[in-house]
Amino acid sequence: MRRYLSLSTIFLILALAACAATAPEPAHDPARPWIGGAYKTHAVSVSHPLAARAALDILNEGGGAVDAAIAAQMVMTLVEPQSSGIGGGGFLVRLDGKSGKVETYDGRETAPASARADMFLDARGGPVPYRDAILGGRAVGVPGVLRMLEMAHREHGRLPWRRLFRDAIHLSRDGFPVSERLARQIAGDRLLPKMPAARGYFYDGDVPRKAGTILNNPDLAETLERIAEHGADAFYSGPIARAMAAAVTNAPHHPAVMTVDDIAAYRAKKRPAVCGGYGSYKVCGMGPPSSGGIAVAQVLGMLQHFPLSGLGANSPKALHLIAEAERLAFADRAAYVGDGDFVPVPVAGMVDPRYLAERAKLISPDRANVGLVDPGMPPGARAAYLGPDDPIKGLSTAHMSIVDRFGNAVSFTTTVESAFGSRLMVKGFLLNNQVTDFSFRPTWRDRPAPNRAAPGKRPRSSMSPTIVLDRQGRFVMAVGSPGGSRIIGYTARAVLGVLAWGLDMQGAVDLPHVMNRGGGTEIEEPLVPAIAELAAMGHQVAVNRMISGLQGILATPEGLIGGADRRREGVVLGDDGPAE
Ligand code: GLU
Repeated sequence: MRRYLSLSTIFLILALAACAATAPEPAHDPARPWIGGAYKTHAVSVSHPLAARAALDILNEGGGAVDAAIAAQMVMTLVEPQSSGIGGGGFLVRLDGKSGKVETYDGRETAPASARADMFLDARGGPVPYRDAILGGRAVGVPGVLRMLEMAHREHGRLPWRRLFRDAIHLSRDGFPVSERLARQIAGDRLLPKMPAARGYFYDGDVPRKAGTILNNPDLAETLERIAEHGADAFYSGPIARAMAAAVTNAPHHPAVMTVDDIAAYRAKKRPAVCGGYGSYKVCGMGPPSSGGIAVAQVLGMLQHFPLSGLGANSPKALHLIAEAERLAFADRAAYVGDGDFVPVPVAGMVDPRYLAERAKLISPDRANVGLVDPGMPPGARAAYLGPDDPIKGLSTAHMSIVDRFGNAVSFTTTVESAFGSRLMVKGFLLNNQVTDFSFRPTWRDRPAPNRAAPGKRPRSSMSPTIVLDRQGRFVMAVGSPGGSRIIGYTARAVLGVLAWGLDMQGAVDLPHVMNRGGGTEIEEPLVPAIAELAAMGHQVAVNRMISGLQGILATPEGLIGGADRRREGVVLGDDGPAE
């Protein structure tokens, strides 16, 4: 299907998908028009079809990529609340089509003034269980995504702010069909029923909302109306801010202090893009407080020293090399990366090509390093933190990639942290639990962890919204994914799919995953045939389900071609004129 989808078609597709699906994971329906064709002027790849549609409408009206991202985010707050929303945070990377400049916007949550470095330690000084930490007030950071989007809109918006809320407000009022994935996540979440407000919305009495149910959210409609009318100030002060502070302070689980002053003090920040290289390509992403841009640049910067293109994408040798580069990148990440406003992060040194060439020498072409490797000493680093890292698995978060008719591109990853965030629902939206992205152990052998919690600090992220440019500085692709700390591996693998193996965007997104975050090597099921050889090289291999949500757009001579991750529900839509 080359023509763009009408809203009613999308409703129908969602309803059919909801009825058809019985498998625990999204079944791939080959009839579903995931990715459309090659688009001449503009295209969007977004985690949910209704959000993609809202973004495309904006581009069709002459809006820019930032406008489209805002419209999509507002719809996602409603239709994919388990993943992202105005109660969360995110990072947006933007390429300016005219100047070729890459800018990055930081809308990461901040810890409230009440946060303490030892807030996730139990009475005996050990870290509290992650499953307990993620619920309730203590986990909530001051949301940042709305301030960030407002900042990006002030600088690059083409359509009026108010217009960008229209679809989300309509859908909130009139209702949207609960998707199969949302229904499955509601039914599978043991924590939601413990939280009265969320339970009242996501349950019909005692029954979790079913796929295909039309759900409306008048509270969110009202919230969005206010923000559409008065800007982000309506969220960061006044009744919405008071309601957020009260929800955290009076939370039924782990009540904690978040004040209206904490909320009013939130600032979005522009940060320098972190760019690395792969061959003649420039790969740009988000710097601290995300570890994503650095880690993706490190993985690619090390791998460019190996003849990956000559090895099959799924060959044991290629998988080995990728796992080894990731293992080294994760060692540096744990040692150095936290919020750069609080701790010195040697960003330039970490992505320095000479440093990465040295690090690459630690990779043997046929022998795995075992377990955890030592971090390196990049130029500018003082001393490495050598404590254990908290590996976080995520099934939440969402990514969108957007290219507009002016040649601007946006790569935007947005999150409420774990699925349904803190499960605290206020004024129609969920509050994040991003504070759990801080290191639970504040120190190791008396050395402070770079990612320890502190008032006003931003927790370290793995989100890796990425934009790739060619030698002339022209747009090549935008891509990114949800998936906790696996985001780094998902994103690097998709970039390699295009740059090393010449796949199109969907081919790169479809590649089965290989992942090493410092211990064993994880693979997805299709890579099982490689296990014997990987084990012979010294890898401890585990076969895991890895539910990435890669959404990408690639520039090709035929036009803009998208990729949407079949492991989730995203789609690609574009202008109504296929390039051929
Ligand atoms: N909170 C995580 C991060 O910022 C993302 C969680 C997820 O993808 O599920 O790195």
